[in-house]
Amino acid sequence: MARTLRGINPDSKPKGNGCEECLKEGSWWLHLRRCAQCGHIGCCDSSPGRHAARHAALAGHPIVASFEPLQNWFYDYEKKKVMRGPRLVGPRWHPETQPAPGPKGKVPPNWVSLLHEVA
Ligand SMILES: [Zn+2]
Ligand SMILES: [Zn+2]
Repeated sequence: MARTLRGINPDSKPKGNGCEECLKEGSWWLHLRRCAQCGHIGCCDSSPGRHAARHAALAGHPIVASFEPLQNWFYDYEKKKVMRGPRLVGPRWHPETQPAPGPKGKVPPNWVSLLHEVA
């Protein structure tokens, strides 16, 4: 029996090691989020691209899990709430070799001033 949870499929694998859209655009991110439903990897709301939130809106996949090492919280974009969730299939976080901000070589020297403020 497949586990059915709103916005969460524990068996969908992460689709990459970095934000899918940033990698395509040659851009950079601060932190990474994993779509809990399809495994899309996007950047957080402080990152210039905010691709995790955009994916949530476009795909209708409301829940992300942190893709940062040792973090295991989830966030629900519809309810705007941090939440707990089931253990997702690995890898659960981006590799240690992936810096934050990342990816290596694409982060501008003034990156701190380019972040969005998140309440
Ligand atoms: Zn991004
Ligand atoms: Zn998704």
